[in-house]
Amino acid sequence: MRVLVVEDEPKVAQALKSGLADEGYEAVVAATGEEGFYQASGTGFDIIVLDLMLPGRDGLEILQTLRRGGVDTPVIILTARDGVEDRVRGLDCGADDYLVKPFALAELSARIRALLRRGRTDEALRLKCADLELDLVSRSVTRGGRSIGLTGREFELLEYLLRHAGRIVTRSQLAAEVWKVSRRATPLDNVIDVHIARLRKKVDHGRGPRLIHTVRGVGFILRDETGGAQA
Ligand code: CA
Repeated sequence: MRVLVVEDEPKVAQALKSGLADEGYEAVVAATGEEGFYQASGTGFDIIVLDLMLPGRDGLEILQTLRRGGVDTPVIILTARDGVEDRVRGLDCGADDYLVKPFALAELSARIRALLRRGRTDEALRLKCADLELDLVSRSVTRGGRSIGLTGREFELLEYLLRHAGRIVTRSQLAAEVWKVSRRATPLDNVIDVHIARLRKKVDHGRGPRLIHTVRGVGFILRDETGGAQA
């Protein structure tokens, strides 16, 4: 799940970013309205947390322009305590929810979960391949209906493989996208291989046809080779 945080105060932005990361979200911070608008216009965010008080381009104007442009990503606006009018206008402009500053991170993540549940069909929040299912809201994984316990990193790795099901993913892709390491003196290859081996043991071993395949010299592919449909 990717969250765009549009917030100009570095301390608040940083706290949100790390807090959301602890909750298992990938948070991207935009520090200006202009940057926020640019990021939000692209695809790939599941939710947008938008501060209304921004230098340059103000939050409400951004929200309005996004909605007019057909961007329907759920938006939570952040408003000042006395900003009753802002809240009303924000909701009128197409915000899905609001939070009054200062707020507890737990409150924000509860709102995010609620919006994700409400705003999407169950399908979008569940990734599947054959009888393997990953639920992004409860962060649980099952195969053939039996639950599989994964560590946080294993979950992210499996999520990445499922999002790219049927396509080869390289180790450097995994290092950059799952481990968030793009350049490193020592490659992460061994670490990745160890995680893949553990994941494979949990997901494939004794649970049915193998889904996680190694493509020698290239990387990995998650694929149902028994001819079942992939979702
Ligand atoms: Ca601000």
